[in-house]
Amino acid sequence: MELRQSGISDTEVLSALERIPREEFVLSNFGDQAYENTALPIEQGQTISQPYVVAFMTQALELGPRMRVLEIGTGSGYQAAILSKLCRRVYTIERYRSLLGQAEERFRGLGLHNVVTKLGDGHLGWPEQAPFERIIVTAAAAEIPEALIDQLADGGIMVIPVGASGRNQDVIRIRRGAEGISREELLPVRFVPLVEGIAGTN
Ligand code: SAH
Repeated sequence: MELRQSGISDTEVLSALERIPREEFVLSNFGDQAYENTALPIEQGQTISQPYVVAFMTQALELGPRMRVLEIGTGSGYQAAILSKLCRRVYTIERYRSLLGQAEERFRGLGLHNVVTKLGDGHLGWPEQAPFERIIVTAAAAEIPEALIDQLADGGIMVIPVGASGRNQDVIRIRRGAEGISREELLPVRFVPLVEGIAGTN
């Protein structure tokens, strides 16, 4: 109800948020806050985004049921789980092995069989599976990674928070159209940074 009142009008997106239990994606001691509209900590100093921001970015992707979607920054797996209800297949990349393992367990537990995962540096995208009709990045990039633009299909949309860490960041929507690449600023946000390389031992 609160999300609808704050401008999330896509009923498919609202229904996906209703169907994915957020409490399964947060640390157990934060379970009682799982349905508050706030970001919460997950392992490795990372965060699960505020439900409003998840809903907003998902709506901004203009998803269709036959699309293949690349997500950078699996984290808890919550955003990927929402996407899995709205598209054909989700390809999600995370740089921490431990986070990826836990997210995979959640996908299995919830019977979400159209999510595939990869340990890696999201800056590089997933060239073997490109092009993607949609790309969503859930960590803030100082600049839009070139490889991700290259892996965006014709007519494709990418939604990505851009800005230095701890500074003003904005969710940007990129469209690859007949006249080239267009860019819109959609929403001021605060995300953890997109970091180069995979994480050491974790
Ligand atoms: N989508 C997540 C949000 C996680 S926060 C969710 O719904 O819970 C951002 C995540 O991006 C963190 O898990 C962080 O480890 C990851 N990340 C940061 N830089 C990355 C990179 N270069 N490649 C892949 N993942 C990255």
